This record gives sequence, C-alpha cells and structure tokens, in this order.
Amino acid sequence: MLISIVAPCYNEEAVVARFHAEVQRVAEELLPLGHDMEFVYVDDGSRDRTLTVLKRLAEADQRVRYVSFSRNFGKEAALLAGLGHASGDAVVVMDADLQHPPGLVPRMVRLGEQGYDQVIARRTRHGEGAVRTATARLYYRLVNRLIDVELVDGAGDFRLLSRRVVDAVLSLTEHNRFSKGLFSWVGFPTTAFAYENVAREHGHSSWTFRGLLNYGLDGLLSFNNRPLRAALYLGLALLLCAGGYTTWIVIAALVDGVRTPGYVTIITAVTALAGVQMVMLGVIGEYTGRIYYEVKRRPHFLVKAANTEPAQGRPALDTTKDLIP
Ligand code: UDP
Ligand code: MG
Repeated sequence: MLISIVAPCYNEEAVVARFHAEVQRVAEELLPLGHDMEFVYVDDGSRDRTLTVLKRLAEADQRVRYVSFSRNFGKEAALLAGLGHASGDAVVVMDADLQHPPGLVPRMVRLGEQGYDQVIARRTRHGEGAVRTATARLYYRLVNRLIDVELVDGAGDFRLLSRRVVDAVLSLTEHNRFSKGLFSWVGFPTTAFAYENVAREHGHSSWTFRGLLNYGLDGLLSFNNRPLRAALYLGLALLLCAGGYTTWIVIAALVDGVRTPGYVTIITAVTALAGVQMVMLGVIGEYTGRIYYEVKRRPHFLVKAANTEPAQGRPALDTTKDLIP
C-alpha cells in the first residue's frame, strides 16, 4: 500500500522539519510491512519561512510533495488541496504542529488494513481548561440533536481515509467546507480510538474565540435546514399567541369597556417581536449568504508554487463545471 500523509501548514516553520523527521521514522517502521509513504505538505499562505523549509525538505527527500497557496485560504482549503494531490491507497490527514502524534499512524494503518475506510484518532480533552471542555461538551450534545450527520467531540481531522473515502470527499465540491461533517457524511466503515491530547509546543493555535463561535455556527448550518424550520415554527407559535391575546383583549373590551393603559404590553410586544424578526432574518441571511458563495463557484484556493500536480482522474478540483449542465 502507498500511504500519503497530508499535512496543512500555516506558519509552522518552527516545527515542520521536526514533523517531517517524525513521519520519516514512521515510514521506516512501515516499510518492512510492505507500505510505502509519500508526504503532501500544503503551505496555506504562511507569512514565515514555511515554504522555504518545505522546499528544502523536498530536495532532501524525494517523497515530499508540497503545494503553496497564493495567500491564506484556511485549513479546509488546505486539506482539500492535500487530498487532491495525494495519490496513496490510503491517506492520513494530520496537523503539522505535532499535536497529532505521528507515532499513532502505524496503528491507524493496521486498522485500515483490517478493512476500515476511516480510522479516527480521537483526542481526549486532557489538560484543557474546564470552561472550554464544558462548552465543547454542551456544543456537541446540542449540535448532534440538530444536524443530520454525527459529530463526535475530539474526532477531528486526524484520520486515515481509504482511497474511496478520499475520492468521495473530493467529489463534494461545496465552497463551505466543514470537513468534520463531510467525513461523517461520507460514511463507510469507520472506527475510532482515543489518544491523550497534546499541547502545542510552538506558536499559537490560530483559533480565536470568535473563530470557534463561527466554526460552531458553520457546523450547525452546513448540514441541515432545521434552523429555517425552527424559524417557521417559532413564527407560527407567535402567531398563535398573538391570536389568543387579541381575542382576549377584544372580549375584555366588550365586557369591561375600553381601558387605554397598555404601554408596557405594547413596548414589550414591539421590541420582542422586532428581536425575533431580526433573528429569523439572520437565519435566512445565513443560508442566502451560503448560496451566494456557492453560486460564485470560485476555486477553493490558488496555487503559488508546487512540485506536484493534482492526482489524475479525480473529480475533485473541477470547479469550472456549469451549475446547470
Ligand atoms: N492551518 C492551516 N491554515 C490555517 C490555520 C491552520 O493550514 O489558516 C493548519 C496549521 O498549520 C496546523 C493545523 O492547520 O497544521 C491546525 O491548526 P491549529 O494548530 O492552529 O489548530 P488547533 O490545533 O488549535 O485546532
Ligand atoms: Mg494545533
């Protein structure tokens, strides 16, 4: 089997060489078992010397392939590019910051050989702040009740994918890529094992609180139209309440005569309803915004430099096809 390692790198000059040394060691371990390896690094428009390091690695090691973006297009785009350039029978997707221990790869490969199409290395939340852990727990519980695919806490991008899963993921050309959900949507026999969370050694995680919040919203909105449905139901419920309340007021007026005071009621109704309407507009706007980005059909990324071509015959990166044939 040829196994491809796909690693997106954004400002990872400090670790990417060490990462490569570690995966090389894994390759040596796997060679006697009849597995070859290739390494696909995607430089996601880094501002540091990541590309220089990658070029040096490629000179020293024939199996290194790199793709460098014209600017930062985000990890999802980098993943897509990496998968498109990987030619392995199985692909292991992992972060280049050594938070995904390369030592786990042989175990993933073994499970892949047993016939699993997806092998997920799921990280525990060991050593993370209590607040973040609790928020994540809550989020996953909530989101899994709402969306159509199943998301598992800690089961992220560190996974082994069989060729057919890679091809399936590549055939999903949507612009809004939420790979956690995409992998889960694709399906095929899947297994998982847990590993202890590793803290980042160099640099910073590129996640900000706002980034996480938006990521969470993406997860919620990318896989269903339930928020739209919810808006509809909420509207109907409000209408029902309004009808009931109006009836009551009219009857009260007929029985007791008109009593003018009602300032609080009116203000409450006006502000609350305005709020609800804004939220619903927001929900609709979110979906419209997604449609807007999808219909533009822009490429997911632009390549500035590369020592490799996309693997042949894959439907993947063809974003030029007409929407309506
Ligand atoms: N990454 C990327 N593009 C980005 C941000 C991150 O390719 O815009 C890469 C980064 O180099 C790393 C992986 O994605 O290999 C995970 O990023 P990070 O460590 O910042 O996220 P975390 O581990 O905190 O989820
Ligand atoms: Mg990281």
